[in-house]
Amino acid sequence: MKVKVISVLEDNYMYLVIEENTKEAVVVDAAVPKRLLEIVRKEGVTLKAVLTTHHHWDHARGNEELAKVYPGLQVYGADERIGALTHKVTHNEELKFGDINVKCLFTPCHTSGHMCYFMWEENSPDAPALFSGDTLFIGGCGKFFEGTAEQMYKNLTEILGALPKDTELLHECGDWTQNSPAASTSRRRLSMSDRFQESVLWARVHREESQVCFESGTGERECEKETRLGKSRCFSFQSGASPWKGEAGMNVEFCER
Ligand SMILES: [Zn+2]
Repeated sequence: MKVKVISVLEDNYMYLVIEENTKEAVVVDAAVPKRLLEIVRKEGVTLKAVLTTHHHWDHARGNEELAKVYPGLQVYGADERIGALTHKVTHNEELKFGDINVKCLFTPCHTSGHMCYFMWEENSPDAPALFSGDTLFIGGCGKFFEGTAEQMYKNLTEILGALPKDTELLHECGDWTQNSPAASTSRRRLSMSDRFQESVLWARVHREESQVCFESGTGERECEKETRLGKSRCFSFQSGASPWKGEAGMNVEFCER
């Protein structure tokens, strides 16, 4: 499967996940429908569904408009507050879109109805991917708006921590490198290594330089200048086995802003 990473708003991403044989696609967190539709047309794909991690406007704002453009569009999420929701999903529920499989992982804390989505494609050498919304960042986590530290600890250790080692992580970055108490909590709780501390510093530096950052579990790092992006966003590839080089991992492309 191919993932188009679409920069939106000041500091967010939407993800268009494409099943390359059928040209069918699902979007994770459709915040800006106009921009999404541009990419959908450009890629020549058919949008089958919206997967929303949580109800915050910078993740779910575009759902209603998309539902008007595509009558009958399926909108998945775990929170009634998500606009245009058609399918309320539960923990460990599995969905299938062509060859793309999705496992819903309920991770309440940032919001009480936060869902992460773990995706993989049948008969594909591509690594599976986790879309972690505002639950997990590089070494940090989202703010505890509607939950407790205990819930977040369980999310990170028991639920997301149990995923395969080669899972690629696609997530938001936010301000956690600067001042999030949640980030420091997770850092303590997970007793992160020196390498983690180093990664945080690295992400912070590149964020200040308005770059988009990639990281693999093997410690390889690459950055691309994205000059028109006010702030940089990060996503990490926690692939224990395969370094981020494109051919070994998933097919990930950035869209021009
Ligand atoms: Zn949020």
